[in-house]
Amino acid sequence: MDITLLGTGNAVAGKDRENTYLLVEHEEHAMMIDVGGNPLRRLKQFDVPQAKIDAVFFTHFHIDHIFGLPSLLWGMWLEGRRKKLTIYCSKTDQKRLEQYLDVMQVKEWPIQFEIDIQTYDAGQREHISWSASTGLEVKTIPAIHSAPTAGLEFRLDGHVTVYSADTMINEQIKQYEWIDLLIHEATSADEHLDNHSSLTEVVEAYNVKEKVGQLVLVHLDDEQPYEKTVEAMPAMIQQKCTIGYDGLQLRLR
Ligand SMILES: [Zn+2]
Ligand SMILES: [Zn+2]
Repeated sequence: MDITLLGTGNAVAGKDRENTYLLVEHEEHAMMIDVGGNPLRRLKQFDVPQAKIDAVFFTHFHIDHIFGLPSLLWGMWLEGRRKKLTIYCSKTDQKRLEQYLDVMQVKEWPIQFEIDIQTYDAGQREHISWSASTGLEVKTIPAIHSAPTAGLEFRLDGHVTVYSADTMINEQIKQYEWIDLLIHEATSADEHLDNHSSLTEVVEAYNVKEKVGQLVLVHLDDEQPYEKTVEAMPAMIQQKCTIGYDGLQLRLR
């Protein structure tokens, strides 16, 4: 399984950061987690054909996580895509997603591929069927944010990867005995924010020293002193901690 950080910025993006969205690839499957920036250009930069994307997973319906969808679908249509695209969203957002597709007049373009909307309950842990046939297990993790939001857990050959999505410090993530790779939002470096997390909180709350193999931070703010905050931490934490950047590729076993 490979994860590429397509964007790592917070809600207002940054000088060198698109809004946070990710690409997960496993064998012949690929899923985009949220859609920001210019998704087709990004895919081309990483030599991933749009045809490989079989799913989009929306963690929540804040604009910084959904605004790239029109561009993605437009490009898929113009490139003659035929393969079905599954879009996962919280069941509370299904209607908005359908309205969003209607406003874009997707049916009138007319696209030649099926858009299959699958909903999940953002308050529950639910299996996501994407890539299930390959042995990669994907499950939602209810997040704590100002809108119904879910992070994701990926389990492959005993290795656990967790993506927090936008969230405050989350008891659900604290409960893991061990996380090989934790990709977590850090909208601030040190100060406490409502609906989001700080780098300091993430490192302390999840006991990164003992319970996390590698920590990668996303949803970052250009004005926040992340480097300084990491430098003040013990060497062992510094070694585990990566301040995410657009284009960072994480290869997992
Ligand atoms: Zn956000
Ligand atoms: Zn949000």
